[in-house]
Amino acid sequence: MLPGASEYGIDLSIDDAAVERLLDVGPADVAGPSELTFARNVFVPLTTACRYTCTYCTYFDPPGQASLLSLEEVREICRRGADAGCTEALFTFGDDPDDRYTAIHDQLAEWGHDSIHTYLREACEVALEEGLLPHANPGDQTREQMAEVADVNASMGVMLESTAAVDAHAGPRKKEPAQRLRTIRTAGELDVAFTTGILVGIGETWRDRAESLLAIAEMHDRYDHVQEVIVQPVVENERWSDGSPDLETMRRVTAMARAALPEEISVQVPPNLAPARDLIDCGVDDLGGVSPITDDHINPDYAWPALRELEEIAETAGLPLHERLPVYERFLPADLRPADFDGVPAERADDGDREWISPTIRSALVADDAAGDRYRSVL
Ligand code: SF4
Repeated sequence: MLPGASEYGIDLSIDDAAVERLLDVGPADVAGPSELTFARNVFVPLTTACRYTCTYCTYFDPPGQASLLSLEEVREICRRGADAGCTEALFTFGDDPDDRYTAIHDQLAEWGHDSIHTYLREACEVALEEGLLPHANPGDQTREQMAEVADVNASMGVMLESTAAVDAHAGPRKKEPAQRLRTIRTAGELDVAFTTGILVGIGETWRDRAESLLAIAEMHDRYDHVQEVIVQPVVENERWSDGSPDLETMRRVTAMARAALPEEISVQVPPNLAPARDLIDCGVDDLGGVSPITDDHINPDYAWPALRELEEIAETAGLPLHERLPVYERFLPADLRPADFDGVPAERADDGDREWISPTIRSALVADDAAGDRYRSVL
């Protein structure tokens, strides 16, 4: 039984036979990609406050030490990103700061906000003004919270990490797998192109990995909204000394991801955390975001590779490397998709019933200005 399933109204039926089949998959059973993609982004660590205390995470700061970027700081980061040729403002968060974070809430109140989500909305608007497409990862979100910010984001995300209850999430405040799945489901209900992923090596079993990937696949099957799944190894840092998965493990789990997910979902590994060049043949087709100017604030000990390094990975694999937007092309309406698009448009993107990008994001993409030119140059 999925932890928290009844509390969060998650009804998943993961077939035992499908789990068994996936557990038999290895690198030899999947095909490599025909090209690799990446996005140019800047990290905007809107707040380091988090209600949880995952034992592998160096991102969150405890109450009294957590930061909250001002809109001026957001603007400055985004301006530098746009100047450097980025297309994406990647808003990183902890999970909804709870009431221990009095300083954060006091600051938000002083700026006229009673929640981090209404503030995120303003921050996304600043990013758009500065010429970047927002992609926010605000942890778990209720339907109301996501609806508050969905139209000012090109796409959004949250890592599922695992469907298992693992000690690394334990403690008085722990995130629940079912709550993550509810967030992923909510994105589907709200027609938000979504990024999720699994975290490998936090105490989950092989069966847990298979079930996690199949749970994502089932959510996508219902809504056609998952654009990429990140296969991320946990890495040693000042809070985590329980090791990192070895290459053989990463190759097998990456191949399992490729096999579990339909072709239209990209499988991404973060090259600053995983041995990307040794995983391409296991089905990786996306190398995530590369930032010319900001650190990876989630894992500051691991510097992002330069763009040149991504090019070397592609060259070694003998594959073309293409830049992409934070929202994948299959979620764009037909008139904005590139002429050589040969994928499968996201469900009902063209019939008027379902719009994957909001009028706000559409306006940014078609704008007759430098940012619009930059976005369209990637398509
Ligand atoms: S991994 Fe995410 S939810 Fe867990 S402590 Fe870090 S920021 Fe919070």
